[in-house]
Amino acid sequence: MHYPEPISKLIDSFMKLPGIGPKTAVRLAFFVLSMKEDTVLDFAKALVNAKRNLTYCSVCGHITDQDPCYICQDQRRERNVVCVVQDPKDVIAMEKMKEYNGLYHVLHGAISPMEGIGPEDIKVPELLKRLQDDEIQEVILATNPNIEGEATAMYISRLLKPTGIKITRIAHGLPVGGDLEYADEVTLSKALEGRREV
Ligand SMILES: [Zn+2]
Repeated sequence: MHYPEPISKLIDSFMKLPGIGPKTAVRLAFFVLSMKEDTVLDFAKALVNAKRNLTYCSVCGHITDQDPCYICQDQRRERNVVCVVQDPKDVIAMEKMKEYNGLYHVLHGAISPMEGIGPEDIKVPELLKRLQDDEIQEVILATNPNIEGEATAMYISRLLKPTGIKITRIAHGLPVGGDLEYADEVTLSKALEGRREV
């Protein structure tokens, strides 16, 4: 099918997003044409601003518009507990739950020998460094309950064992194979409450 160039460019752009196939891209592109110009401008600005103004926190790796992020800066939080997660979206899921009041460390991935991702490819060295500097007493491993997440948790727990820091793994009961970010708040809060020392 031949579209005028501006719309075929828009279709191509939508297709760069995850989970958007050609049919959906066409539908979205035509929907944009039917939107008010102001709304389209706001949308375009939101895209560019999110990209330009957001960065990763130099302490914990969470997405933020200020460095360190608001969580790392918050002196009312328990600063001796660090919850290790795979993705910034997991921090958001944990924060929504409102039961955790410690700090975070975002790994930005998980160890996956199948995909050639080792500990050095994710923020494991940064975690080690942080544990040397800070007064951390407990590390909660909240990586996803799937093969990569479990392998990552096991690797980190072995690595940290000699430090004498208390290491816990969030309880099972999270859907196996699922991502932390999709767990509902009750399940997540139970998993955190039932964490066990490893
Ligand atoms: Zn931070």
